Amino acid sequence: MVEVKNLTKYYGNIKAVDDISFTVETGEILGFLGPNGAGKSTTMNMITGYLSSTSGTVTIDGSEILDDPKKAKSKIGYLPEIPPLYIEMTVRKYLEFMFDLKKVKLPKKEHIEEVMRLVHISEQSERIIKHLSKGYRQRVGFAQALLGNPPVIILDEPTVGLDPKQIIEIRNLIKSLGKKHTVIFSSHVLSEVSEICDRIIVISEGKIAADAKTDELSTQVLGNQKLAVQIEGNSSDIIAAIKKIPAVVRVIKTGEQNDAGKYMIEYDKDSNIRRDVFNAMVRINCAILDMQSGNETLEDLFLRLTSGTVKSSAGGK
Ligand code: ADP
Ligand code: MG
Repeated sequence: MVEVKNLTKYYGNIKAVDDISFTVETGEILGFLGPNGAGKSTTMNMITGYLSSTSGTVTIDGSEILDDPKKAKSKIGYLPEIPPLYIEMTVRKYLEFMFDLKKVKLPKKEHIEEVMRLVHISEQSERIIKHLSKGYRQRVGFAQALLGNPPVIILDEPTVGLDPKQIIEIRNLIKSLGKKHTVIFSSHVLSEVSEICDRIIVISEGKIAADAKTDELSTQVLGNQKLAVQIEGNSSDIIAAIKKIPAVVRVIKTGEQNDAGKYMIEYDKDSNIRRDVFNAMVRINCAILDMQSGNETLEDLFLRLTSGTVKSSAGGK
């Protein structure tokens, strides 16, 4: 089990991670989803003890990463964004080297064979790493993370730069790992996270924007009805007028077309606000050009959660 409590990281004056808390249970696959610069790598580096936090704690199976780094680290297999490969070594030599470095207690030869088999790299075992393709190198990094059979596996954007076939292989590998391990993997691709993971944490600007079971993400975060409208007139007046309607939870401007702004109005699911919006716009003399129900796709939801303009209704739990 991984427990992250109030994790915060400053780089100088920049707050890269802002008070993140969550718990991952054994056997869970958690997707850490967010755009570039959201704070995914910084968080993972703190969870794995590669980077100290400014404040907050990380506990791995009861061991605090900073109090007892050896013990906590021995429970984690980590594939960082840039895998720590010694590219002059052969795959086997490198894995033997990492095996010794990690002081793994399992039978060396058999264990390395097993790990290579698992990531489908056995046939490349005698090749020098620098001669391998990006996909194979990634698998070597993956193999390194699996050495010692750690209960917690952390993977930082493991599919970046791979071709579609390799991506599918890595995804399948992650899914199979999830049966026995606790897996946290990061990605900026919603579709792969929703395909692989039991649970998704959306991170945006260092904060948790949503934390939900994959199939409950949209209902949990939305929970409200949506109305997509297109209205002519001054945006700030329009937004202010709509916000005054009691049932409205939030309004965002989603675009502009032919001098009319497009807005997404989120409102309490038990009310019907079409008439209220109409009356409000009449009062400020703005013409409504279009009004329709705005059911969001998961993709829209992700964009909205990470756009930095919207406060989230789901928080770090
Ligand atoms: P992600 O992995 O989600 O792309 P990062 O954790 O790498 O995000 O970065 C989060 C923020 O912290 C970004 O704004 C990034 O520019 C900043 N950052 C990351 N590493 C450093 C560093 N070593 N020094 C200063 N700023 C950093
Ligand atoms: Mg990163």
